[in-house]
Amino acid sequence: MGLIREKTVGNWQLIARLDQIETDRHGRTVLLFDAIRDDLIDWPRPEWGKIFGDDAPEARKAFALVRAMPDDTAFAALSERVRPHEGQWFWLELAPDASTGAMPCEYAALGENGYSQHIQGFISGLDLLIDEETAPQPRPLGASVPTNKQKGQAVKSAAAFPAAAPSFSRIGCPPQRWHFSATKITVRDVGQAAFVTLDLDLHWPSAVGNNHFNLRVPLHYDAGWPVSFHDDTAPLPQTLNVQPGIVVLSHWDWDHMHGFYRFAALPDSSWIAPDRPMGPGAGRVAQYLHKHQRLWRFDRKRLRLPWICILTANGPPKDANQSGLAMVVKLADGRRALLTGDADYARLPSPFATDDYDFIVATHHGARFAGHVVTPAAPGCRAVISAGLGNYYGHPTLRAMLAHARAKWQLEATFERKKQPRGDREWP
Ligand SMILES: [Zn+2]
Repeated sequence: MGLIREKTVGNWQLIARLDQIETDRHGRTVLLFDAIRDDLIDWPRPEWGKIFGDDAPEARKAFALVRAMPDDTAFAALSERVRPHEGQWFWLELAPDASTGAMPCEYAALGENGYSQHIQGFISGLDLLIDEETAPQPRPLGASVPTNKQKGQAVKSAAAFPAAAPSFSRIGCPPQRWHFSATKITVRDVGQAAFVTLDLDLHWPSAVGNNHFNLRVPLHYDAGWPVSFHDDTAPLPQTLNVQPGIVVLSHWDWDHMHGFYRFAALPDSSWIAPDRPMGPGAGRVAQYLHKHQRLWRFDRKRLRLPWICILTANGPPKDANQSGLAMVVKLADGRRALLTGDADYARLPSPFATDDYDFIVATHHGARFAGHVVTPAAPGCRAVISAGLGNYYGHPTLRAMLAHARAKWQLEATFERKKQPRGDREWP
């Protein structure tokens, strides 16, 4: 029996991490929460945390993304009360109808295809539970019904990056005569999201004789797909050829990892990801991967191999965009590509911030960034923007595009631009 989908939100309570505060293309503030339904958690049973690993539709639907769109008055009142910033945890009360001070919101429950459909509602109540920087250590829950603050602490701990996930530094080096080479980068058209696939060729000698074996392994840099709020930016048909391989995740934002729920090859891939604070839905993904021994923690400043360098951007860890993983890919002929996710170029560790490159994927979907643009190896090298037209942020921005053009990059996009239809972009 299928689930009957609600048409509006009910009188539900949520425990929610504020993942993003952004300004939409009309200059209004949009808050994005990664949340779990408090009223569907089996408090105070000690096994309540099992909901994170439960794949039954009833358990899945406890996880939701909420996009709140306060008007100026509501946002001013909120700002005075809680000074909202990314990484805070809230207790939210939802309602189907507007009441005084309520904020309109859109609500996307986790279904079979991820967060793919949303319904309308209102946030009628909002309490700050944890102000990430000043959070006290969580205490174990007692036998009685916990307070909202205790619940918030408990969910935050349960959603954290799995402590036992092994460090990628511990991975052994492949034998010396095994040889990897990077041959092609495909910036996929995934609408308002980011998903790049690097073709890696692995060659190794036969045990006897002079033969060589070859194997092509995809390395995905991010695995994004639009969540419901940006579903209309997704390509049609909504299919991609995604093979299992390795995923290097720049950061735990849904526009960089929602493909986990869309393409069966992605939960079957090995993920290398930064250990950062995250909300319940992202935590659910991390725990799935860890349970299946497919999650590696990337905890170094850089990892340098002949064909690739993985870097940690040097922003503060609480800033997901600016502390994400970046990649420099080197082709056999020496040409280099830079993939930065949503991090500013200036946040790359030296000398990568000041190097020049033959190809880049423009940072942050072609939107706002601080500091300089890296230099092309020659004028006219290509910079590709990964974004979907009509997204509510208004990405890319004219200012960011001009900055790239002034640096002598030739801009391209995965969306339709200058008579080039939308689609994947390949390099070289
Ligand atoms: Zn992004």
